[in-house]
Amino acid sequence: MVAAMGAGTIALLWALAGEPAGAGVQLASSDAAGPIEAERAAVSGDYSAAPGVEVPPAIEPRLAELAAAFRRATGKPLVITDGTRRPEVQAELMLRNLERGDDVVRNYANKSAARAVAEAYAQARAGGRAAALAALTTVIRAQVAAGDYVSKHLREGAVDVRCTGLDKRERAALKRLAKARGIAVVDESRTSTPHYHLNFVR
Ligand SMILES: [Zn+2]
Repeated sequence: MVAAMGAGTIALLWALAGEPAGAGVQLASSDAAGPIEAERAAVSGDYSAAPGVEVPPAIEPRLAELAAAFRRATGKPLVITDGTRRPEVQAELMLRNLERGDDVVRNYANKSAARAVAEAYAQARAGGRAAALAALTTVIRAQVAAGDYVSKHLREGAVDVRCTGLDKRERAALKRLAKARGIAVVDESRTSTPHYHLNFVR
């Protein structure tokens, strides 16, 4: 799977900036007028997702229905800035954090999972980047298999919705429409990459 990542990786990493500020993901602002604006691909009529953003199939119909309701209420589409991450994508993201010296234990809420990733990096880094990436992927994949998520985007059932460009009334409408559909809204609008994190599963 790692070998399959290549040309699309950069675009993908642009799309992954929707993590809360505290999570140490500062690759690029998802709100910057960068390549993502030009390459954005419409997924449905009522929402769009950046290239590489994976909307979990299990929640896609509910997301589409929410987006349709939001469009009816506001006339605007939803912009999905992050979806479900595969372990190798999370590994690439955290490898970049570690390579530039970030303290991932401090930056990630799941301290024990982040510590395990940092320890794998410390052990594997001397073997080169590919070996380090493989080691991180192995650790994160095992964590996911055990139900331990270093990022909540490893768990299927969540997306981030951009909230810059939405006024107060539109933001309130999004929260109200989501909650009416049993979708939990985590307000991350005051972080460096302002968004609402929508949890479709408990
Ligand atoms: Zn999120």
